[in-house]
Amino acid sequence: TFRILNSSRDLALSLVETAQYVGYIEDTLQVIAQPQSVVDAPNAKQLVAKGGAVELRNVRFSYGDNRSDTLHRLNLRIPAGQKVGIVGPSGAGKSTLVHLLQRLYDVHSGEVLIDGQPLTEVKQDSLRAALAVVPQEITLFHRTLMENIRFARPEATDEEVYAAARAACCDAFIRATPDGYNTLVGERGMKLSGGQRQRIGIARAFLKDAPIIILDEATSALDTESEMEIQRSLVRLMRGRTVIAVAHRLSTLTAFDRIIVVKGGQIVEDGTATELRQRGGLFETMWRLQAEGLSVDEAENAA
Ligand code: ATP
Repeated sequence: TFRILNSSRDLALSLVETAQYVGYIEDTLQVIAQPQSVVDAPNAKQLVAKGGAVELRNVRFSYGDNRSDTLHRLNLRIPAGQKVGIVGPSGAGKSTLVHLLQRLYDVHSGEVLIDGQPLTEVKQDSLRAALAVVPQEITLFHRTLMENIRFARPEATDEEVYAAARAACCDAFIRATPDGYNTLVGERGMKLSGGQRQRIGIARAFLKDAPIIILDEATSALDTESEMEIQRSLVRLMRGRTVIAVAHRLSTLTAFDRIIVVKGGQIVEDGTATELRQRGGLFETMWRLQAEGLSVDEAENAA
């Protein structure tokens, strides 16, 4: 009887382990389930990121062979350290532009360059290391909060993770949980609010410490305190880095050095927020509609 009990306990243990592995495999699959259309050239070199200058030269791109261009001969030069907000109606090509910068797809013609190096000539690992992406929806794993932040740079020390969490205004809420940084996250663990998830995403970007930040601002409404903390930590994150942001919030639009209005796959306006408002074009209309209470997305589509 003892032996049977023992083996059923072993069986239960191995089931638990198997379930943990399945969780781990799920996590890994989520990370690698990205478009795989792009491969390193045989002679690909390491990207040497300096200040993080970005350039799109005459870029044409469409998602399928028979579709009309999503981006038409787009030209854009972003000097190192400039903070650029991209706005425009739904389907304009804003996300496509930031996807091409990450080389999730290759352009059909033209070039995308970082610090003068064409993305087609560099190793993708080195490209990924130069970019910190803060997406709208932060992917969290069924792991501890510590592991969820450290994911951005697995070799980071605990101290570095704490520093990133402090910079992203998540240290306080993490320490307020009973298990602190060891708190498990996810379906079977702690559920994080939208604002907390975003701050974890920002902490990851701090930890990665890349020269270029790609930010897809969340559209979801947050409580005022979360909103303020997120703005504060984003301003801190943007300091000294190149930023390309798909902007959805009026409050951040004013934090950018430059606004680009994309419509129909082309840049239709380009300047500071003040300049564009004076010009009286699409941006000014969007600005006015927002002032009347529409969200950025509603205003972009109504303008
Ligand atoms: P939104 O503000 O709604 O996110 P956007 O300006 O970011 O819009 P994109 O997502 O870049 O616009 O889309 C540009 C065009 O490309 C749209 O017509 C869209 O339907 C199309 N598109 C986007 N992603 C894909 C894809 N993976 N496959 C095929 N077509 C796509």
